[in-house]
Amino acid sequence: MAGASLQPEIMKKIHKKKKKLLLAIIFVLVLYPVYSGREEGKFARERESMVKNQIETRGIIDPQVLRAMRKVRRHLFVPERLRRLAYIDSPLPIGYKQTISQPFIVAYMTEAAQLKNGDRVLEIGTGSGYQAAVLAEIVDHVYTIEIVKELADSALEKLKKFGYYNVTVKWGDGYKGWPEHAPFDAIIVTASPSEVPEELVKQLKVGGRMVVPIGSFFQELYLIERTESGIQKNKLVPVRFVPMIHPEE
Ligand code: SAH
Repeated sequence: MAGASLQPEIMKKIHKKKKKLLLAIIFVLVLYPVYSGREEGKFARERESMVKNQIETRGIIDPQVLRAMRKVRRHLFVPERLRRLAYIDSPLPIGYKQTISQPFIVAYMTEAAQLKNGDRVLEIGTGSGYQAAVLAEIVDHVYTIEIVKELADSALEKLKKFGYYNVTVKWGDGYKGWPEHAPFDAIIVTASPSEVPEELVKQLKVGGRMVVPIGSFFQELYLIERTESGIQKNKLVPVRFVPMIHPEE
């Protein structure tokens, strides 16, 4: 007779399991999309206010740069625990003693490089991949080099996941540039060397532009243009970047 009284118990357990499964399905199909949609909406509003209050008011006017800054979802490029801070007026840590640059600086450097749609651009210091994504919204192809393997790997994975097929990431030393793909229309260096890296200048097209911070503690951002006869160097603004590492250090 023991078997007869067990059956309803088993049925109850099965019902409970079904209920749990049903709740999980409801969560996945209904609640999660509603939740993440609301999150995306909140981030979109924060992004708009970032562009208006941090970037447009400080004089960035290139429509392509403003469009890219409005489009790229910066919160997906910062560590998850810092997502709520993604749109503040500041750089943020991304691990390995490195940072994702302040949004205004990303916009400023991108505008300074005077990009056109067909351009091929080299970035030194992939970091989170955010600047590469902003560039990829504007130009034909972005080549980007990162010296920290883990950062290169995670940036590549993110850029692929978000559909940036026009970005190629390499783990390596940025001082060497990427001779196989040179010459470039523009080079953007997002870590600070103490002097202009000569090898990178060589990899600029005639008429090409390089935007690069120079210095150790006190740094200045420079716009370097390669001309028929040499280079033209213009000091832009004081900045603060992480140092560009020599691999033997
Ligand atoms: N552009 C990045 C910010 C990068 S911070 C972004 O949008 O998130 C600077 C990056 O330069 C760091 O990730 C650092 O590891 C990298 N870096 C430093 N020295 C380098 C070198 N010699 N070659 C390539 N990358 C370098």
